[in-house]
Amino acid sequence: MTAQDMLQFDQTHIWHPYTSATTPLPVYPVAAAHGVRLKLADGTELIDGMSSWWAAIHGYNHPVLNAAAKQQLDDMAHVMFGGITHRPAVELAMLLIEMTPEPLQKVFFSDSGSVSVEVAIKMAIQYWHAQGKPNKHKLLTIRSGYHGDTFAAMSVCDPVTGMHDLFTGILPRHYFAETPACGYGEKWDDSYIHDFRTQLKTHHGEIAAVILEPIVQGAGGMRFYAVEYLQQVRELCNQYNVLLILDEIATGFGRTGSLFACNQANVTPDIMCVGKALTGGYMTMAATLTTNQVARGISKAGGVLMHGPTFMGNPLACAIATASLKLLNSTPWQQRVLRIERQLKEGLTPCANLPQVADVRVLGAIGVVEMKKPVDMATMQKMFVSRGVWIRPFGKLVYAMPPYIITESELNHLTGAMAAVIAESTHGNTEKDNTAKA
Ligand code: PMP
Repeated sequence: MTAQDMLQFDQTHIWHPYTSATTPLPVYPVAAAHGVRLKLADGTELIDGMSSWWAAIHGYNHPVLNAAAKQQLDDMAHVMFGGITHRPAVELAMLLIEMTPEPLQKVFFSDSGSVSVEVAIKMAIQYWHAQGKPNKHKLLTIRSGYHGDTFAAMSVCDPVTGMHDLFTGILPRHYFAETPACGYGEKWDDSYIHDFRTQLKTHHGEIAAVILEPIVQGAGGMRFYAVEYLQQVRELCNQYNVLLILDEIATGFGRTGSLFACNQANVTPDIMCVGKALTGGYMTMAATLTTNQVARGISKAGGVLMHGPTFMGNPLACAIATASLKLLNSTPWQQRVLRIERQLKEGLTPCANLPQVADVRVLGAIGVVEMKKPVDMATMQKMFVSRGVWIRPFGKLVYAMPPYIITESELNHLTGAMAAVIAESTHGNTEKDNTAKA
């Protein structure tokens, strides 16, 4: 099959994320990936600025992760988790408990970030049900959030970018507070938490949990907000007897400069979701962690947590995740992320002077250029590829979240290409692209 045949079949028969079946967007055939580079079928190499949707923190084809995968394959790729346990799952759970905030002591493995959010929501609802408070079954979240594409997860995504209107009457209705208006590092004022506090005060009798992405709101808008906001949220949850679910799927494992974003605010959740970088981007896997208090609460009077995916605790994924976390712990990732942050600031800040740019913001290994108008994704994508980089913008956002192993010169190339393409893209910026994370 030639690359052309492959593309032809793909465009005729395969759905890509957030695309039309009749007018598909262009796709680029990747034949291999190594370090921070994607190799296209025609041999072109692209420096990856996306870490495959923020997951491949160690880069591709890493010898340590490859070895872990091969070794585990020789033992077993998969066995069911019902009535069975295995070393890879136990080792990974031990590491997760060690690395995450101390009160989190129970681990539920699942196969994607969205499912780990579904499980977190079930935990919260089941917890209150078991306490004799079945009316506490609503969630409170903040606008501009993103938590996944399954129905319960979607119901707590931003109502506009999460396209709630498509599913009116089907999605459960929850409470939304205004997007945190105080940016990361900006001067805090108590008025910023006013709307959130009011919602919680009014509705806490029905609210099982608050769910939000700590510090960085990812696919719902790439916004960074003040640590004080998160601290206030924690205090208010305590005050009003509501659980706090932190979705660290995008922020976990160093991306914001701390191991977890909640560490920056010294806040610990009752329930936490991790995914994406958990396996270094090798396998689909996520986990939901909770405290002994919540776990015991759910299990009161013989209660069981009502979830059990077929591929739960997949040994291959667990073995790779364990290797990935050990690798992270053994590398100077803090210095790397700090260096990436400095370079992203240097490389992207000049874009703020361009008339088509609304804002430039950088936190940890995340660099965002917000345009004034939505970009034409396909056109911009092509411009990036012709400059030898892989950047996938969405809506008004052109952003980079590179693998932590990216070198100084590779990152210079990446930010240089971003600045150049953004500078060139004064025209054709009007095509609306509504998709949440495409
Ligand atoms: N939560 C957050 C914060 C995310 O960024 C994502 C994915 N972009 C998800 C949940 C959903 O994860 P998945 O795509 O693995 O289902």
